[in-house]
Amino acid sequence: MKIKSAEFVVSNSDVTKCPKDMLPEYAFIGRSNVGKSSLINMLTSRKSLAKTSGRPGKTQLINHFIINKEWYLVDLPGYGYARVSKSTKKVFQKFITKYFEQREQLICAFVLVDIRHKPQPIDLEFMQYLGERGIPFCIIFTKADKLKPNAIDNHVDDYRHIMLETWEEMPKHFITSSSKSIGKEEVLEFIDELNSG
Ligand code: GDP
Repeated sequence: MKIKSAEFVVSNSDVTKCPKDMLPEYAFIGRSNVGKSSLINMLTSRKSLAKTSGRPGKTQLINHFIINKEWYLVDLPGYGYARVSKSTKKVFQKFITKYFEQREQLICAFVLVDIRHKPQPIDLEFMQYLGERGIPFCIIFTKADKLKPNAIDNHVDDYRHIMLETWEEMPKHFITSSSKSIGKEEVLEFIDELNSG
């Protein structure tokens, strides 16, 4: 897919104020510092469409960008557990769960994980949460330039192994590096296929 235009539309923390025009949308989410802003900038070939770490005011908002006037790329805040008093129950921040439970135009969520780390409970639990609600998602492994190819394979295998304990198959996944521009076409082609399918 060629990116002809990529424009910021709106930021807010209230899902009811997100765009209402029913264009297909794709959400990008992960723990903070996973490389989400860098990935969004790589995908859209814009240097600073999404604000990368170190710049204030980027957190806790749902950011809509319109791409090629055809679909929304949604930059979601880094997730963490909400504090639930007197309970050990872990729940994700409310406005994130509201987003996933209310956005009917969401076609697919991309859950970003740093390829260097072993599978982390919060990422696995978040994927579990999406799966239980029937929300389609893929995994995007980030920062692949930090590992040698065989280490990449080993880390993906670790993920596959742990995912197969609860899932029938490993979710579709992409290996990316924003620094080396790896994986860009694969992700964009996948979105293109979903948009035209
Ligand atoms: P965000 O908090 O998830 O939006 O993460 P950022 O995109 O701001 O990136 C967090 C840090 O990781 C920054 O220091 C980036 O330079 C670095 N980073 C992001 N993507 C890559 C990548 O593909 N390769 C490497 N080596 N570093 C990256």
